[in-house]
Amino acid sequence: MTESPAKNYDLIVIGAGPAGYVAAIRAAQLGMKVACVEKEKSLGGTCLNVGCIPSKALLESSELYEQGLKKLKEHGVSVDGLRLDLKTCMDRKVRVVRQLTGGVASLFKKNKVDHLVGLAKIRSGKSIAVTQEGGETVLSTKNILIATGSEPAPLPGVAVDHKKILDSTDALALPEVPQKLAVIGGGYIGLELGSVYRRWGSEVSVVEALDRIVAGTDLEIGKLFQRILERQGMKFHLSTRVKKAKVEGQGPVTLAVEGLDGKESSLEVDAVLVAVGRKPYTDGLGLTEAGIKTDGKGRIEVNEAFETSLPGVYAVGDVIRGPMLAHKASEEGVAVVESLAGQRGHVNYNAIPSVIYTWPEVASVGLTEEQVKEKGDPYKTFKFPFMANGRALALGEKDGWVKLIADGKTDRLLGAHILGPRASDMIAELVLAMEFSASAEDIARTCHAHPTLSEAVKEAALGLGTGAIHI
Ligand SMILES: Cc1cc2nc3c(=O)[nH]c(=O)nc-3n(C[C@H](O)[C@H](O)[C@H](O)COP(=O)(O)OP(=O)(O)OC[C@H]3O[C@@H](n4cnc5c(N)ncnc54)[C@H](O)[C@@H]3O)c2cc1C
Repeated sequence: MTESPAKNYDLIVIGAGPAGYVAAIRAAQLGMKVACVEKEKSLGGTCLNVGCIPSKALLESSELYEQGLKKLKEHGVSVDGLRLDLKTCMDRKVRVVRQLTGGVASLFKKNKVDHLVGLAKIRSGKSIAVTQEGGETVLSTKNILIATGSEPAPLPGVAVDHKKILDSTDALALPEVPQKLAVIGGGYIGLELGSVYRRWGSEVSVVEALDRIVAGTDLEIGKLFQRILERQGMKFHLSTRVKKAKVEGQGPVTLAVEGLDGKESSLEVDAVLVAVGRKPYTDGLGLTEAGIKTDGKGRIEVNEAFETSLPGVYAVGDVIRGPMLAHKASEEGVAVVESLAGQRGHVNYNAIPSVIYTWPEVASVGLTEEQVKEKGDPYKTFKFPFMANGRALALGEKDGWVKLIADGKTDRLLGAHILGPRASDMIAELVLAMEFSASAEDIARTCHAHPTLSEAVKEAALGLGTGAIHI
């Protein structure tokens, strides 16, 4: 073990995902001497390597393929001999990932963040041990930030073998398209990756234990979303639990499933994607020895300032409470280091968007109608359909709505839910509206360019007040 007095940091960040690397860069910009320890050689964490970015690269490639097959004809474009070259798609995805992860390495250099490849273990509130290829190094520091993220949650009875029973990381790099794919879990990861393979020709069946997909999304939006996915060819088995998966040699995978009524049946497929959620990752960190508390779900407990039960040690991102989203992780990373630098770092959890990058996309911010109803306060809601939006018709994208929910007394925006083309980009305006506590009238009085999809946002806001014009 080597202990170097030269390595005396203001902050050591453990984990270089969107929580950790963003925090490390911001801390260095604020004048701190920072090290970031990452156990993988590639920086960027789950998000850049096996999450947000590779999945979006494959969603884009597969959507273009489907457009070639189904949509181009309507635009007068005929393509003969269209075929899928899976290897080229996968190679492109690797290039996109490399470019971004390499970009993080350059940003570390530019901002003078010391980058250590190794597994970090907390020894005390002021010191960590890093296990590297050449042995163990001990670093001392004023503060520690844990940003160790999450990993796929297991499903009892369905052991991932990384060949036919897959986790999301496997599904991002399959060498061939399975003819029949079962996706266990109707959340965003399952639906995005299920969409990729459906577009590439797989028969995709989603098995979901709840009676609905995308739990947590506005119910009305979720129901329409399911109908659209069904129309695209995805099959859904709701209120159905997978009890066991069996693979025999080179044969298919048999899933034993049970309905809510106790009726048992089976599903035979070529591959299974287990996408039942993610769990915090804290292996090897030495939390118990260090006296850092976790909750019943394995999440590191933090106070409002993101400080753990061990003074001077903070935690952010997927490893703590809240939605497991990259931008939430980064916001927290910035907030904690700004607070350490004496500023007023803060995260507004009411204004964190969530997006499902299928086609059409689903994007939300704030409360769902069910949550607002439960509060019992007066509210109003309006849905403007893309069918009545000029740009959407020109794009040939008529499915979906912009749904807004506002306080019945104050007109303040409480929630926004978009199911439609490029919903991911459109939600930004409504996140800003939530951040500034805007009213529906504020949005309705804002001039929106014509013809744009965003006009549907203005129309929905008008619908909450003086009335929409185009419906
Ligand atoms: C398929 C998929 C698609 C996704 N798509 C989206 C999306 O579109 N939008 C979105 O917002 N979110 C998406 N997510 C979720 C997103 O990836 C996570 O919310 C985000 O990566 C969390 O960031 P983090 O920094 O907290 O953790 P992570 O990104 O998991 O990073 C943690 C890092 O810590 C390292 N580490 C762990 N323990 C140690 C240790 N002891 N020592 C050193 N290093 C350690 C890990 O190797 C890892 O690199 C997706 C996830 C998946 C799986």
